[in-house]
Amino acid sequence: TRLPIRRALLSVSDKAGLIELGRALAAHGAELLSTGGSAKALREAGLVVKDVSEHTGFPEILDGRVKTLVPQVHGGILGRRDLPEHLSQMEQHAIAPIDLVCVNLYPFAATVASGAGDEDCIENIDIGGPAMIRAAAKNFDHVVILTDPSQYKGLVEALTEGGTLNHQRRAYAAAAYAHTGAYDGMIARWFAEKAGDILPPVLTLSGTRGELLRYGENPHQKAAFYRDGSTRPGISTARQVQGKALSYNNLNDTDAAFEAVAELEGPSVVIVKHANPCGVASAATLEEAWVAALRCDPVSAFGGIVALNDTLDAATAERIAAIFTEVIVAPAADADALEILSRKKNLRLLLTGALPDPAADGLSFRSVAGGFLAQSRDAGRVTEADLKVVTKRAPTASEMRDLLFAFRVAKHVKSNAVIYVKDGATVGIGAGQMSRVDSARIAARKSEDAAQVAGENAPLTTGSVAASDAFFPFADGLESVVAAGAVAVIQPGGSIRDQEVIDAADAAGIAMVFTGMRHFRH
Ligand code: 5GP
Repeated sequence: TRLPIRRALLSVSDKAGLIELGRALAAHGAELLSTGGSAKALREAGLVVKDVSEHTGFPEILDGRVKTLVPQVHGGILGRRDLPEHLSQMEQHAIAPIDLVCVNLYPFAATVASGAGDEDCIENIDIGGPAMIRAAAKNFDHVVILTDPSQYKGLVEALTEGGTLNHQRRAYAAAAYAHTGAYDGMIARWFAEKAGDILPPVLTLSGTRGELLRYGENPHQKAAFYRDGSTRPGISTARQVQGKALSYNNLNDTDAAFEAVAELEGPSVVIVKHANPCGVASAATLEEAWVAALRCDPVSAFGGIVALNDTLDAATAERIAAIFTEVIVAPAADADALEILSRKKNLRLLLTGALPDPAADGLSFRSVAGGFLAQSRDAGRVTEADLKVVTKRAPTASEMRDLLFAFRVAKHVKSNAVIYVKDGATVGIGAGQMSRVDSARIAARKSEDAAQVAGENAPLTTGSVAASDAFFPFADGLESVVAAGAVAVIQPGGSIRDQEVIDAADAAGIAMVFTGMRHFRH
């Protein structure tokens, strides 16, 4: 059976769609109750509205902190229409039933994001709103709860057909508890962060579903993108200018690529395949950086994700468009670049407006059986001042630049990571191997292939520098890096066999620096 709406209470911060909803409710014979700002908006649109304060005989007090927290409201929402006992009590206390509640909450997240002070943030913690939402959702057998303007259309359609159905009200109830749950989760996290407690005793992960993705990592997996309200520039804040919808893997890879490129100084390019960089370079221009990045592993770059840390220009766009690319992500693109890329209909272009701050703190998560692991994000950034030269030979100035660049890239490559760099560009990347020696060898072998493609005789690693994301446990890893042609090495150090590794470096006449910081990435 369909339930009509005789009385509705509308109290919303986000007033989108409010007037249309109010009109439809009134047209179907509902009395409208409303609070301050919402009532004003409805009246201005010419609707007949009764103030909640008039309905309850109790004024809005304490600057709006108490508007609807009264038995006339909560009794009217919570009373069971199927229990004579409830109905008679309601009659006894002159409580009129409220059949629909439409509430969305004070914009707490937006207030925090705007950089407002504590007092402002706290005032934007909604109290009466969540109480009404939870009450109406609990009584979904008799009451409709709307918490999002996107729901209004369906409600109006139901009214036209004579009222709402139980399963529809039940679905609204589920959405309502998700809404208040996420809201309180945000508030809890804000308090915890304020107290410097980034790992509080209870952590609520909350997000609002954005795109339903075609599938997950594989076609038999379901997936969606949830936004958590953070304003960190990247895939969640990006504007997609063109191209097909992004897939789960696209989003994951694009995020990895953009976070990596944001670490680099000067015009830089990162090409990612399967969540690992396969070419990274910084140069005087983006175009030069692209050419240098592509040279590292042109075979893998096919169908890759390209991230840039500066405004995409025409020359670079032309170069990138010349090979098959899945996604380009950049802070911005100039008009000529947009025009060039618009010819590639399927190519996805994301513009983020800004770069994320690599040093910003925050949490990262991984799900495991029975829970999830949380850790502060790897915001560690080694600078020249942190380095300790451990060999007889110290790196030259240009080697030093490449070493720091290589270590920064290593941070974004799955462990075990060994990276060869020459002149501000990677020339060999070994990723994700179970043995560090294998990563070193694979990177060197790939660089031989790249040399062949580039028509060069010597492997690109000849005369390069090398970075390892973690210490070399034995001298063999270091020896294979030397065998590949590296003349300087950067690594965390800290192995009990450090001395053996240092001796091997000295024996080979190369320079080596310790960072004291490790960058595992699993
Ligand atoms: P309005 O713009 O209509 O004046 O206020 C609407 C907002 O007030 C909604 O976001 C609603 O959740 C919130 N609200 C309704 N009743 C109460 C209450 O009793 N206390 C507080 N703190 N907020 C309320």
